[in-house]
This record gives sequence, C-alpha cells and structure tokens, in this order.
Amino acid sequence: MNDTEPDASCGTCRANRGELSAPGGVIYEDALWRLEHILAPIPMAGWLVLKPLRHVEALADLSGDEAAAFGPLVRRITRAMDAVMQPTKVYLCQFSEAEHFAHIHFHLIPRRGDTPPEQRGPAVFALLSAARAGNDLAPVVEAERLAAAVRSRLLSQPEGEES
Ligand SMILES: [Zn+2]
Repeated sequence: MNDTEPDASCGTCRANRGELSAPGGVIYEDALWRLEHILAPIPMAGWLVLKPLRHVEALADLSGDEAAAFGPLVRRITRAMDAVMQPTKVYLCQFSEAEHFAHIHFHLIPRRGDTPPEQRGPAVFALLSAARAGNDLAPVVEAERLAAAVRSRLLSQPEGEES
C-alpha cells in the first residue's frame, strides 16, 4: 500500500480533497490533520470527524509528528466543543470499518444531557446507521451553525494557549 498517495476510492481522502463537502466546510486544518462535521445524512448536529490528511489505515502507522500533534489537538477541539455545545461528555471513537472509509478517522461526538440512555455509549452509532438509511436526523443548518461556531472558537483559542 502506498500511504502517501490518496486512494481514489477512499472516502476520507475524497473528503480531504474537497470532493465530498461536509456541512459548514473545513472547521480546522493544519499540515497533518483536518476537522470537519460528519457528512450528511446527519446523525447528530455537532458530530465532528478528525482525520489525518495523509492516507493512513492503522493507528500504528501514524507518523511521529501526527501522533505528537494528536493529543493536544483533541484537547483543543474538545474544549471548543465544550464551549460551543455544552455537552455532558465528548465521545472519541475510531473504527474505520465502513466501506471506502478504512482511512482512520476519529468521531468526536457531543453527548448531551438529554440523550436517551439507549443512545449513549457505543449505541450512539445507531444514529449513524439510521441516518445512512437516508435521512438527516438533525437539520443541516444546525450542523453548519455548530461547525462555524467551533471554527470561530478554535480561531479565538490559538495553539499554544495552554491552561
Ligand atoms: Zn484515504
């Protein structure tokens, strides 16, 4: 496998090339990582996806730079999600099992206080399955609004502003 050239059939590489547009556009991007809202059909407004720009199919294959950037970036993003959405928790999940989505990608899911118990934990992915059956489960405009708000928050909290 060539892990430097994007795979033509890879959905994540296609999204990274701008061929699949997420609601609200790119929320954050640096030389290694990109953050976007999950693609429509939308399982939940504010459900974000963080992925390496490089085509990588295993966590073990992340470069040293990608691995070193990951922790601080996740903290920064989840702080922005907390500020914008006030979730009870933010879930972080990585499976990459869907067809054409073997390229690793981390789901950052804002679990709200009013989420029914049967949709908490791994069961939250039932929402993704339900959305992929063909329907947005939240308005696209709300996804776009939250994507924009997280982007603004990240811009107002520059990298290196640690506390
Ligand atoms: Zn890829």
